Amino acid sequence: MRKSLSIIMMLVMAVMLAACGAATGGSGGENGFVGISMPTKSSERWVNDGANMVKEFEALGYKTDLQYAEDVVENQVSQIENMITKGVKILVIAPIDGEALTDVLKKANDAGIKVIAYDRLIKKSEHVSYYATFDNFKVGVQQASYIEEKLGLKEGKGPFNIELFAGSPDDNNAYFFFDGAMSVLKPYIDSGKLVVRSKQTEFEQIATLRWDGALAQARMDNLLSAHYASENVHAVLSPYDGISIGIISSLKGVGYGSGSKPMPIITGQDAELASVKSIIAGEQTQTVFKDTRELAKKAVAMADSLMKGKEAEVNDTKTYNNGAKVVPSYLLEPVSVDKSNYEKALVESGYYTKDQLQ
Ligand code: BGC
Repeated sequence: MRKSLSIIMMLVMAVMLAACGAATGGSGGENGFVGISMPTKSSERWVNDGANMVKEFEALGYKTDLQYAEDVVENQVSQIENMITKGVKILVIAPIDGEALTDVLKKANDAGIKVIAYDRLIKKSEHVSYYATFDNFKVGVQQASYIEEKLGLKEGKGPFNIELFAGSPDDNNAYFFFDGAMSVLKPYIDSGKLVVRSKQTEFEQIATLRWDGALAQARMDNLLSAHYASENVHAVLSPYDGISIGIISSLKGVGYGSGSKPMPIITGQDAELASVKSIIAGEQTQTVFKDTRELAKKAVAMADSLMKGKEAEVNDTKTYNNGAKVVPSYLLEPVSVDKSNYEKALVESGYYTKDQLQ
């Protein structure tokens, strides 16, 4: 009698626990299984993106498989293949090389799996349902407008020396950042108010494969020794915080940041911790904050709609042609951050604690 009572009790508890799990969304994957393929852990932002998505998916009752490919295209392809084999229903992918996933996405489609491009567009595939990203053109505009403002170009000041850096040529975003920045800077370069002493102004000349800070540092070393022996550089357009770190090391190596060689204005992107600290310390000047928490929420909402057979919310249906289709997109707003507003943008919003920035 006692034994059957305790069995009944255990059963009741199990039912209660199960109900509790369902009520809070749980993470048992009762609503489905999602594969999340991120490019690399070497940059903080992608670590945050992955963690935020897992959290959001689990809260809605999805199980996740999160993988990082450490910037090796073949790793990413095989990780996605594994996810397909494991039976995911949705794939959320930030590609390393936007043009390298055509075959694996065909396999995903054959298996009935839907795909969301995350932050970076996946090109040359019709099997991309949605794209969640930021207004990437605007990111470049914000970086360049910052330089324009701080140098007083609108007020007719100049000429100033500037050098330009761009992102990875296999990342569609890099072209949007560059085009956005050049929409502001080109008129000043044409009029001679901005002088690019290296004359390297084409995307191909200034691109940085895989956004590699060490490569950017080596290029900056060359630029400084070849073109700035008797001149100072006043501004550097950098598309990403990791690249800015390399540029700053190079500049410091030849004495910038002291006396007759003040640090040039140096832009960036992602508001990574080390770079925000560098901004506070007066080395890097600006960054573009893209709230990865919001992007994760958007991508998860898109996945949830796809799982439920509903249309997802988008706000752009013309910008992102991937070569096979125009991918319906949701563009979030980037925020330009410098010493004057980092507390409001990054601390008050809860992205970082004050302690983290000490
Ligand atoms: C992202 C940027 C990031 C860069 C390097 C781009 O695709 O949009 O936020 O700085 O990749 O990881």
